[in-house]
Amino acid sequence: MLTLKSPQILQETALRWKRECKIAFVATMGCLHEGHLALIDKAREFAQKTIVSIFVNPLQFAEGEDYSRYPRTFEADLAKLEEAKVDCVFAPEGDDLYPKGFATRVQVSKITEPLCGRFRPGHFEGVATVCLKLFQITQADFTVFGEKDFQQLRLIQQITEDLNLPITVIAHPIVRDKDGLALSSRNRYLSAEERTRALAIPEAAREMRDYLRSHAFATVGEVRELALKRLSDAALQVDYVEVASSRQLASPSPTTQVAAIPDARVFLAARVGHTRLIDNLSLAAGPAGLERPERTP
Ligand code: AMP
Repeated sequence: MLTLKSPQILQETALRWKRECKIAFVATMGCLHEGHLALIDKAREFAQKTIVSIFVNPLQFAEGEDYSRYPRTFEADLAKLEEAKVDCVFAPEGDDLYPKGFATRVQVSKITEPLCGRFRPGHFEGVATVCLKLFQITQADFTVFGEKDFQQLRLIQQITEDLNLPITVIAHPIVRDKDGLALSSRNRYLSAEERTRALAIPEAAREMRDYLRSHAFATVGEVRELALKRLSDAALQVDYVEVASSRQLASPSPTTQVAAIPDARVFLAARVGHTRLIDNLSLAAGPAGLERPERTP
């Protein structure tokens, strides 16, 4: 397994590989868990060479967020990637990707405005900028993103469509712990008591979904109330609970029937102590929604 920090050397290597085979790429911020490894397994199905980046991108953290304390477990990550038979790990330093004089930002409107866009100023601009750079550097034909960060996945799909990028974006379902909590590097921050309270997030989403099974005409307002109550009972601080179409991400009025929203999905963000967690779940009936199994490791 190659470990590189230079964008130039990786791009030269990738251009050489590209003459003979397909390349798949998975972007991560490290502190790898089974969710990341599932994305990597999926990536390997599509290409002969797999590249994984480990980079805690300063551009996507707002003032006061957890950039400096974000968990960094580089040696353990390398061992996992070696075992996952990754061909190349790209682990640049900040200066390698943003040298002095770096002045470009990628801005995407509309889908970046609701949900996390309202609470994390500059976040999606940082994500869009680093991902466009990473796609250029890795020359990837395929890239896998997790539905855990659904708005980020939609952003990447939007950029590749809008800018005609020659890369296919593959979505991977959320990987959850046995108790239902979505795996996340940030789960490490949680104390045992906080982790138990955090379970209210996936439970609230499932409660909304179950309610819709027996109340086909339920409105957005009605199911939101259920979830808000569940989260406040667990003493979580809610950033948002929104029901929106998986494509547009914009929330309709509370009186709209959930069944009338195409490919409806619930999006949740809440803070447990100092840790901010996000989750989402499809509320759409049928094989693409309710019945689709999610993976557990
Ligand atoms: P991160 O390291 O948190 O930036 O995540 C890197 C990639 O892994 C992103 O595409 C995430 O959506 C994806 N990811 C993180 N956690 C999960 C999970 N529990 N299930 C599926 N994908 C995930």
